[in-house]
Amino acid sequence: TSGVETFANSPGLWREALPRPGLDSHKYDRGHTLVLSGGATRTGAARLAARAALRIGSGLVTVASPPEALGINAAQLTAVMLRGCDGPEGLYAILKDERFNALLLGPALGVHAATRAMVTVAIHARRSLLLDADALTSFEGLASELHRVFHGAPAVLTPHEGEFARLFKGHPDILDPPSKLERARRAAAYTGAVVVLKGMDTVIAAPDGRAAINENGTPYLATAGSGDTLGGIVAGLMAQHMPAFEAACAGVFIHAAAGAGFGPGLIAEDLADLIPGVLRQLL
Ligand code: AMP
Ligand code: MG
Repeated sequence: TSGVETFANSPGLWREALPRPGLDSHKYDRGHTLVLSGGATRTGAARLAARAALRIGSGLVTVASPPEALGINAAQLTAVMLRGCDGPEGLYAILKDERFNALLLGPALGVHAATRAMVTVAIHARRSLLLDADALTSFEGLASELHRVFHGAPAVLTPHEGEFARLFKGHPDILDPPSKLERARRAAAYTGAVVVLKGMDTVIAAPDGRAAINENGTPYLATAGSGDTLGGIVAGLMAQHMPAFEAACAGVFIHAAAGAGFGPGLIAEDLADLIPGVLRQLL
């Protein structure tokens, strides 16, 4: 991988690729993001992601919940639409609607075979795909099932260090390099997805070797639900047809700028509503 450029993640890398609605755009032109929700006691992550996807400009956002969680989400969501979704068959049925063009799976879904099966359904559906949290951890030690599977459509994986270590357990070639940059690059080359290895110095790596290191982070982002919000931002950018690497770089930057601008006392609920202020500086 030597000889491939590494960038500081600055707006110059992706500003021109940020989605800008045309004067005559309608909401479907701006994409339809589908976020999978956990069960009745674990619905907040999906709502955080859904709100972030709306704020970043996805024209429509739907949350798909297990039936027992539908009422809880319904009571808490306004512009976001709802669908019932019981496992992989339910997801398959929902995805017959081709207008769902970006999918976010992972936060609070649970670490089990049904989550893995939903990931497989999502990969085969060939929509822009963001996998985070339990969608990654449910492949603990099974990374070979994700070897070069992301070729049909743009894909972004957003592990933190713990999720990364679980996913690539048994792959010392990926886990052992001391350089975070090198580990993210190898994971991207192995899977064929853009890999966002999160933390104070988030690395964004593409399968073609491009990589960027984020420098505008703030430790106030280390708060419950912060990563779920990042997922919604990046999925919402991909719904608007931003290429995966640029969407991941822009999303990480915008998420960090929102958090840094707020500072002390930041909670994840604040982040989505800080996005417009950041976008006004960038567009
Ligand atoms: P998660 O662990 O999934 O909730 O994601 C946490 C989010 O906060 C990621 O976007 C991290 O990059 C970010 N984050 C966590 N800790 C820090 C830190 N110390 N400095 C900057 N960003 C951080
Ligand atoms: Mg997380």
